[in-house]
Amino acid sequence: MSEKFDVIVVGAGPAGTSCAYTCAKNGLKVLQIERGEYPGSKNVMGGVLYRQQMEEIIPEFWKEAPLERPVVEQRFWMMDKESVVTFGYKGLEWGVEPYNNFTVLRAPFDQWFAKKGIEQGVLLITETVVLECIVENGKVIGVRTDRPDGEVYADVVVLADGVNSLLGKQLGYHNEFRPDEVALTVMEVINLPKEKINDRFNLEDNQGCTIELFGDSTKGNLGTAFIYTNKESINIGVGTTLSSMIKAKLKPYDLLDYLKTHSMIKPFLEGGESAEYLAHLIPEGGFHSVPKVAGNGVLLVGDAAQLVNAIHREGSNMAMASGKMAAETIVEAKSRNDFSESSLNLYREKLYDSFIIKDLEKYKDAAHTFENHPQYFKDYVPMMNRAASKFFTVDGTPKREKQKQIMRSITGERGTLKVLQDMYRAWKAVK
Ligand code: FAD
Repeated sequence: MSEKFDVIVVGAGPAGTSCAYTCAKNGLKVLQIERGEYPGSKNVMGGVLYRQQMEEIIPEFWKEAPLERPVVEQRFWMMDKESVVTFGYKGLEWGVEPYNNFTVLRAPFDQWFAKKGIEQGVLLITETVVLECIVENGKVIGVRTDRPDGEVYADVVVLADGVNSLLGKQLGYHNEFRPDEVALTVMEVINLPKEKINDRFNLEDNQGCTIELFGDSTKGNLGTAFIYTNKESINIGVGTTLSSMIKAKLKPYDLLDYLKTHSMIKPFLEGGESAEYLAHLIPEGGFHSVPKVAGNGVLLVGDAAQLVNAIHREGSNMAMASGKMAAETIVEAKSRNDFSESSLNLYREKLYDSFIIKDLEKYKDAAHTFENHPQYFKDYVPMMNRAASKFFTVDGTPKREKQKQIMRSITGERGTLKVLQDMYRAWKAVK
């Protein structure tokens, strides 16, 4: 039999590396397997990394990690064809220690994070695909890889293999995802001199800005688009659920081209040079799609366990937190020398007791509500824009009369009862 480890972690994204790092730090013998040429080579993210969950793993990581900019401003844009209603928050307190969140480029960040794991004793092997889990008497006892003599064994295998999690599917922990459970997102990294970024987004050198775009950015379909500022580049991306794409016969790259040439977006990108073009799925099924996360000798973390809060675009933090919880569970299981499902179910308890499942539960019906009622993005966003234009146009109409006209035009278009029903439904979905 080949060498045996305490833990094998499949995948070197934020979930896998958090788990591998924490296990190794606690003295466990850890093998981490990544199919990419290096950690981050296969990974895609809009680029907002949350400070809190990362800091719980590596305190004051911002002093050495390859980060882009601390985010000091979050803007939200409700877009129509030639106008936009905006709101947001800018706070200079986010620009100083301990910060709130950061923009990052995943390739350098993932490599740095994995190196921290190696320093703790993790054995990382790259360019190696895990083909399947080895199961004996109903217990996962190792993995089979695509290397010659590629079987390795461990007390626990952690599946941190991302959104498709073919390994979780092979074990029967989840089915093929439905098109309404995943979003297909494309993004581009566009190089721009830092002075241009600072001018266009009203920033200083060590300040970043995120803009979440709704409405016409996805041609009125359920989904979002984003622009995030790096030091000397901008990430721009757009995505909708696969089901919306199929229904509306959209092609993701057409959607990105449409966004980049939108009259409200184009000025940000002028003179920029495309550096990278990426596409990836995001698990957006939420609470209802979370699979079985613990079995005999096996745990599922991060995207493999569908842990993404699409409404708040939180995924990397859930990946890190779940990876850490899995590691803590394994350390406890090791002290009992019990890696059975009932022992490892402690991970499930930790997960369900944390912000992760609580947040996913809060929004458990949101995606379906907005997908089944397209009026929110298709009708209300343009209505908001028309209302704002009317309200802010100074034309001698008394303000009270203006308010009445706006209300009349909204209720006139959809009907008072329908507007009330829509408002109640939306409130219920996000309350
Ligand atoms: P991943 O990062 O996908 O890592 C999985 C790893 O496993 C990969 O390295 C892969 O190569 C490896 N792997 C897979 N199968 C195998 C195998 N069989 N053998 C060996 N290795 C394997 N989250 C945020 O917090 N903020 C954002 O701004 C944000 N924006 C996003 C924008 C886009 C366009 C996308 C697609 C996602 C975004 N997310 C964001 C979500 C976030 O990227 C994910 O939630 C997070 O990366 C999940 O981490 P993970 O480690 O679970 O999976």
